[in-house]
Amino acid sequence: MEKLDSFKVDLRGMTSDTVSYQWHIDDRFFSAVQGPEIQQGQLDASLKVKRTSGVYELTFGFAGTVKVACDRCLELMDQPIEAEQTLKVKLGDQFEDDGDIVTVPYEDGSLNVAWNLYEFIALEIPIRHVHRQGECPRDAEFEENDSTQEKEKPIDPRWNELKKILDNDKK
Ligand SMILES: [Zn+2]
Repeated sequence: MEKLDSFKVDLRGMTSDTVSYQWHIDDRFFSAVQGPEIQQGQLDASLKVKRTSGVYELTFGFAGTVKVACDRCLELMDQPIEAEQTLKVKLGDQFEDDGDIVTVPYEDGSLNVAWNLYEFIALEIPIRHVHRQGECPRDAEFEENDSTQEKEKPIDPRWNELKKILDNDKK
């Protein structure tokens, strides 16, 4: 996990009440994190750590694109992502994550936020993600199918004759 060392955030050693971090995230980040949803992407990420009475409020910001498989054609597509997420952290006896606040052991005094950042990014992928209209290879397929179907179904002249007979019967 050497590659992710730059995501280690020192909390105990903070010399001022706010600290900021900036990262550029690319494919190397995703391959080092080894998350299931995303393997490729390009994003700018930032983190602002604010310390108030023993609690550290971490505000992550990220913007860019990640590659995910299109629901229709299964080819990789660019999914734009831009969001902000916060995480509360405190120092304690042992590592704990109760959903609201993460406790980091006092001896460590730091938290590697690579996985948190990954999870926040993955959360922003919409449930349904497809290529933009006109960019999905499946669009072309559907259009072709539509036009061939119409060509295969010319109106049978006999049908018109039959229709006339039926119409006459109704009168
Ligand atoms: Zn597609």
